[in-house]
Amino acid sequence: MIKSLIERYVTDRVKEYGGYEVETPIMYDSEHPSMVSYFNRFPARQYNIDSDGKKLFLRFAACFGQFLMANHFQMSFKNLPYKLYELTRYSFRREQSGELVGLRRLRAFTMPDCHAFCANMNQAIDEIKVRFDLSQSVLSNLGIEKSDYDMAIRFTEDFYNENKSAIEELVKKNGKPVLVEMWTEKFFYFVLKWEFNFVDNLGKASALSTDQIDVENGDRYGIEFVDENNEKKHPIILHNSPSGAIERIIYALLEKAATDSHEGRKPQFPLWLSPTQVRIIPLKEEFDDFCEKLADKISVNSVRVDIDDRNESIGKRIREAEKEWIQYILVIGEKEANSENLSIRDRQTGTVRELSFDDFLNEIKEQTKDKPFTGLNFPKHISKRPNLMV
Ligand SMILES: [Zn+2]
Repeated sequence: MIKSLIERYVTDRVKEYGGYEVETPIMYDSEHPSMVSYFNRFPARQYNIDSDGKKLFLRFAACFGQFLMANHFQMSFKNLPYKLYELTRYSFRREQSGELVGLRRLRAFTMPDCHAFCANMNQAIDEIKVRFDLSQSVLSNLGIEKSDYDMAIRFTEDFYNENKSAIEELVKKNGKPVLVEMWTEKFFYFVLKWEFNFVDNLGKASALSTDQIDVENGDRYGIEFVDENNEKKHPIILHNSPSGAIERIIYALLEKAATDSHEGRKPQFPLWLSPTQVRIIPLKEEFDDFCEKLADKISVNSVRVDIDDRNESIGKRIREAEKEWIQYILVIGEKEANSENLSIRDRQTGTVRELSFDDFLNEIKEQTKDKPFTGLNFPKHISKRPNLMV
């Protein structure tokens, strides 16, 4: 459920930015002329499949699918930059078993991938700035702030000489020192690439958001547009993932929670990602009806609320709610059932506060606004849930 909410959020943001959402195949012909040319120049660690003598491979990015699609487009310079977007579920990489690490490095991953076809280098540079802001904003809204990642930027010497101010602008946007690598030659298909690297508790860096300025694949894949002089040209292509792999976002959030825990703070997911946002605990059975009505009144406002109706001590039920990182707990006894206000146990502050129903709802809405919502992912009553943990 957490993954699905993050996926929806990233997709919504890219569509708002102007990406056209598409779906492309996960399997391709390795002997397609464009693929042969690509693999000759950039050997990749892809999964190969032999299907009755035909050589196929599983995609490691959305590039090929979107480029083969764009190859059929008749684009005008007026349509550019034209942005295609796909949430690839999945992209595959043939990692060695020793290289696999939790949610950080996987063999199959979910990658939001947005390409922009640009008319010329000036347009590509303007567009990469927009996408840089989009990427920072997406990460921040997912709970990953500038202080959580370090930027790396790589470019060719020629690009640097011609576009120094654009590079400086990107670095300034980040607002702190960055890792710079300058190549005397173009090794890859791009002339510039930046990425944000999350550094975890073991000091390991892994890339989240990234963008590239690709000056080769427009030609390689035969993608064309008609310019203002009615001449056919190949676009410059930007390759952006505003968040990086969705699994990696979850890993970064868990790493941050681990840091909080080590430093004596209570680990927590952002409220919009919490599987349960509010837990209601009736002190005794006689308050069950009241709790049911209260839960309905809260959940109708798009809040994930459940009821711990088990025959367990109050202490145990509160402890278990805390272990599930539930931010708000409402214990309902005689006093609470007869009060105008709610008594809210806040996990972060460890205190109990009195709030009116509306104020409580506003506090929740403030933390979840502009984020996707989905209902509970399991039965509302804890007594009805299967206990899968040993
Ligand atoms: Zn790409």
